[in-house]
Amino acid sequence: MKLFFSSQCLDYNQPGHPESPERMKSTFEYLKKKGFHFNEPVTCGEEDILRVHSKEHLQGIQMGKLYDYDTPVIPYIIDYARLAAGSAIAVSEHALKGETSFSLMRPPGHHATRQRVMGFCYLNNIAIAIAKFVDNNPNQKAAILDIDCHHGNGSEAIFFGNSSVLYISLHQSPLYPGTGLESRENCINFPLHPNTEESDYLKAMEKACRALIDFNPSLLGISAGFDTYRDDPLTQFGLDILSYTKIGEMIDALKKPTFIVMEGGYSRDLPKCVHALIKGFDH
Ligand SMILES: [Zn+2]
Repeated sequence: MKLFFSSQCLDYNQPGHPESPERMKSTFEYLKKKGFHFNEPVTCGEEDILRVHSKEHLQGIQMGKLYDYDTPVIPYIIDYARLAAGSAIAVSEHALKGETSFSLMRPPGHHATRQRVMGFCYLNNIAIAIAKFVDNNPNQKAAILDIDCHHGNGSEAIFFGNSSVLYISLHQSPLYPGTGLESRENCINFPLHPNTEESDYLKAMEKACRALIDFNPSLLGISAGFDTYRDDPLTQFGLDILSYTKIGEMIDALKKPTFIVMEGGYSRDLPKCVHALIKGFDH
């Protein structure tokens, strides 16, 4: 597993906000102690952003005009968001060279729509990477498997109706943002009730994997949220640290060029959950 990380993503902070620099810092330090090496990402180009977001969206973030309660105006946030999106592109390109790669960056992305910042997300990192691949490879298909506990409304909205991209999400319902209640066209949703435990979760994962096998994408992006963990303060799922290794093994068994992009995960055990998922691939 190749990991991408820049300490620049630790440089912005909103006191009291659950999407804190500490969550990424502790994960980085834990994996470093385990012997992992990290590649430095580069920022993404404007043309990469504009495949997914409107010009108004990009300018709105730059000028501090776009925000919501969860997603505040932060100085230079566009630069941090562009670096996280660049890292998503880097790991997708690395996956195509044959090695599964993980972008350990913030801010996350899967709630950001074409014109809206939402749920701690400014630019939709995974959508930017997938859109670039599909644009550059017109005869090939790509898929997103979103295992964050929240539905990736932004990713779904960006690719809805696009037959080159399959979007699959497993998420808690009811929960923010309240979308993903049904499957439509190229978007398959598994809304799972609060208190879902590992066995029911893995059954839904099996169905998701079968849909991925049928679709047969040339590139698979994982929106990896770890807020499905039983001690996560924002959600009510019951996954264990070892559950992530099982999830990793299931994804790895698909034998598709795979890249992983960090989304949510707010418990103190985030470093162990991330390491457990990586173990599912590195065995
Ligand atoms: Zn989440």
